[in-house]
Amino acid sequence: TYTNKNDIKRLRESLPVYNVRSPLLQVIRENQVCVIIGETGSGKTTQLAQYLYEEGFCMSGKQIICTQPRRVAAMSVAKRVAQEMGVELGDKVGYVIRFEDKTSRNTQIKFMTDGILLRESLLDKNLDKYSCVIIDEAHERTLNTDVLLGLFKQLLSRRMDIKIIITSATINADKFSEFFGGAPQFKIPGRTYPVELIYSKHPVSDYVEAAVSTAMQIHMSSPVNSGDILIFMTGQEDIETTASEIRSKLLEVYSKKYQITRHDEINDVEVFPIYSALPADIQSKIFINFEGKKRKIIIATNIAETSLTIDGIRYVIDTGYSKLKVYNPRIGLDSLVVTPIAVANANQRSGRAGRTAAGTAYRLYTEGTLAEDMYIQPVPEIQRTNLSNITLLLKSLEINDILKFPFLDKPPTQSFISSLYELWFIGALSNKGELTTLGKAMTKFPLQPTLAKILLLSSKNGCSEEMLTIVSMLSIPQVFYRPKERETESDKARMRFFINESDHLTLLNVYSQWKANKFSKIWCTRNFLQYKSLKRVHEIRAQLKQLMDINKIPVVSSGKDWDIIRKTICSGFSHQSAKLVGLGKYIQLRTGMEVKLHPTSSLYGLGNLPKYVVYNELLMTGNQYICCVTTVDPFWLMDYGSLLFDIKRVKEINDQYSA
Ligand code: ADP
Ligand code: MG
Repeated sequence: TYTNKNDIKRLRESLPVYNVRSPLLQVIRENQVCVIIGETGSGKTTQLAQYLYEEGFCMSGKQIICTQPRRVAAMSVAKRVAQEMGVELGDKVGYVIRFEDKTSRNTQIKFMTDGILLRESLLDKNLDKYSCVIIDEAHERTLNTDVLLGLFKQLLSRRMDIKIIITSATINADKFSEFFGGAPQFKIPGRTYPVELIYSKHPVSDYVEAAVSTAMQIHMSSPVNSGDILIFMTGQEDIETTASEIRSKLLEVYSKKYQITRHDEINDVEVFPIYSALPADIQSKIFINFEGKKRKIIIATNIAETSLTIDGIRYVIDTGYSKLKVYNPRIGLDSLVVTPIAVANANQRSGRAGRTAAGTAYRLYTEGTLAEDMYIQPVPEIQRTNLSNITLLLKSLEINDILKFPFLDKPPTQSFISSLYELWFIGALSNKGELTTLGKAMTKFPLQPTLAKILLLSSKNGCSEEMLTIVSMLSIPQVFYRPKERETESDKARMRFFINESDHLTLLNVYSQWKANKFSKIWCTRNFLQYKSLKRVHEIRAQLKQLMDINKIPVVSSGKDWDIIRKTICSGFSHQSAKLVGLGKYIQLRTGMEVKLHPTSSLYGLGNLPKYVVYNELLMTGNQYICCVTTVDPFWLMDYGSLLFDIKRVKEINDQYSA
């Protein structure tokens, strides 16, 4: 499917941004900071970096970078730009995402997630390697982007020669200009076609079901070449369910019509799920142009709102929901919550249907819901998320008075206080609020503070070989494979790996057995394990191991002693501990809130449940579930101070570990 040179040239020149190439570059040349505004699909992400490159911004030996809020976007855009420039990915054009670096010494245009750039600023405060930084999709207002913008504000006077280019959809653009003292805005003129909005007459009770039937209705009542369908879903699970239901509905209809018995015989329609955890090779297929012979039904998270432009969409189905990370200060944790979108998101979503011709957007909510129940603008991540990670990073940049840091929107003071408390509790901050030795060491790892802590302590406790595996396993979404048709069978397979006292040890067991079976793919399939995920664990583990080596932290095995592993896990998660209070009922020690053991836990259904546990995650879905749980000894919890939340004891322990 490699497009030839002339085709690429023609495609590039057909993009709206091409018409304004020279005035745009002039604004960039004349200003240190500028804000570029354009409709989705105008060519901001794929073209800007190339223009800057063509204009000689890499001549000084410095690189051009472009940040993306999402990993998938960073990879897919880098791939595309490499293709347009006719170079190999990873050579002149590359990308960096967490645990994956596809760049080389030759790389001049680098795409990366905003989180990676933030980490790079820790090592190189002046970003001396870079001549231009494009902060793409700034309107998404991710926590990392917001913090980066604050850092840039301070960087400008130190690096007079750097260019900061902020790109944004139409919403929110003024905010960025104001933040940078009236930085000029450049609007890319774009054409959009009208989109007819069709609202649900009544509130929808099951948005997956409604989306499936709307998609089927569109597909069956319009010719395939009339355009592709894009469905906005919440997250991986809903997307997979929707995809499989559409596929089975299609099979049902097609088998009646054409005596077809298998999906792969249906050749005029294809279903494409997109979400972050999907491997890259599947994702790039969504860009193939079937030239009207085949209809794409794309089911995506809000990544398709502005980050990924897929041509040919004429029908949008908007569930009206997205999954948002929401911080709950009461329980001290982030959780992913299905939340109604804002009006601004709804408009972006509908707009996807009118990029190349007039289209239709089916909104699976009523007009009243939009008017009465939706915010006008989404709440920026910084105002709804756990700030521990960011606080730790800022502290390590010696930004001590975080409340004085220039933020586009100030985070709630309460969130800061609880992040300071959490960091102090796990020993990253001293009583004076300064970074401890342990805290400094934590910032060396691209991990949540708690995971960094257990990794560091595991080395002292002589079980870092094992903890490397556990932490890597916790860094990927899911290794167990549970196909709908074979649930019982896969549950049995999963149970064979269970270590009764701990889900963390169960994960370790899975990896150890995979290793014992020579990292075999067939073995994974037989045991209902996701081979690709495990391979990823293997890569992540190697990278973390490398970081341990660079930082001279010994990697040692505890051999058969797995108690020390649980003890170390307890040290990192002691603030996430729970006590058994009744039949299968736990309460959170810190708050007294009632929680349940998640049914996927290896402890679930045990006759004799442990009295005390620590957990990695809290899931809020009507019920409050603790997930990934490890049995701990109450004396360990006492040791770590959380049983009594004894402040003096916590301090002693922290001092002991920081020494
Ligand atoms: P913007 O950032 O302004 O939304 P983009 O630069 O992402 O616009 O997209 C410009 C064009 O490039 C669109 O028509 C889009 O479909 C196309 N495009 C982007 N990524 C790819 C890809 N990986 N493969 C094929 N086409 C792509
Ligand atoms: Mg873009």
